Amino acid sequence: MNIILLGPPGAGKGTQAKGLQLRHGIAQISTGDMLRAEVAAGTEIGLRAKGIMDAGGLVPDAVIVAMLEHRIQAPDCSQGFILDGFPRTVPQAEALDEMLEAGGSAIDAVIELRVNDAVLIERIAGRFSCANCGASYNDAFHLPKAADTCDVCGAHAFIRRPDDKREVVSARLAAYNHQTAPLLPYYAGRNRLHVVDGLADIGDVAATIEATLQTLPLRTPTHALTQT
Ligand code: AMP
Repeated sequence: MNIILLGPPGAGKGTQAKGLQLRHGIAQISTGDMLRAEVAAGTEIGLRAKGIMDAGGLVPDAVIVAMLEHRIQAPDCSQGFILDGFPRTVPQAEALDEMLEAGGSAIDAVIELRVNDAVLIERIAGRFSCANCGASYNDAFHLPKAADTCDVCGAHAFIRRPDDKREVVSARLAAYNHQTAPLLPYYAGRNRLHVVDGLADIGDVAATIEATLQTLPLRTPTHALTQT
C-alpha cells in the first residue's frame, strides 16, 4: 500500500506517518528528515539545501525527486510506503506517478490532514523533540511528564528545529499554500484524495485514517493483468 500524507507544516503528518508505519509495517519516508540528515552529515545536497530550509523555501524538484527515487527502491519499501512531506509540487507528483507506473505500482490513497493556519503557527512554534530518540513534545499541550526528561527514553536533552521559528513558519505556510495546495485538485481529479480533520485528537485522526484505508479497493497488480 502506497500512501501520501498531505497537509501544511504542523498538521500532524509525522505523527500519523509513524503510527501508520507501526500498524501496517510499511516504510515511513520523510523527505524533511532525509534532508536534515544530509545537512547534519555535511553532504553536497545538505550544503545546498540548508539555506533554503532555514528560509522556509522548497528544495529544487530535481534534487528531491532523485533522492526519493533512490529511497523507494530500498528493500523496506517492497510492501509499500507512507510519504510525509513529498510530493510538495505538481512536478514532484508527476515524477512520482511516472516512477511508480514504471514499476507497475501506483499511489493508493492521499490523505489530506486539514487544519487552519492560526492553530498551525501555535503548534509549530511550540514543538520540540528528544535529542536522543526523537519523541515529539509541545510547550502548549504535550510537555514531558517529568520536567526535562523524555517520557520515552529518559534522556535530558531536547532540540527545536531552526525552521520552527515563528518568522520562518509563515514562509513555510506560504510555500504550502502556493506550491503544495495545487496537489489537492491534482489528486482529487485522480480519485485518490481523502480529507481528514487534522484538528481532531491524535487518536481520532488515526482511527479516521484507518477507516478510510479500509474503504480502498484492492489494487490489481500489473503482472496479474498481463497474465489473463
Ligand atoms: P518538513 O520536515 O517536511 O517540514 O521539511 C522541512 C524542509 O525541507 C521544508 O521546509 C523544505 O525546505 C524541505 N523539503 C522537505 N521535503 C521537500 C520536498 N518534497 N520538496 C522540496 N523541499 C522539501
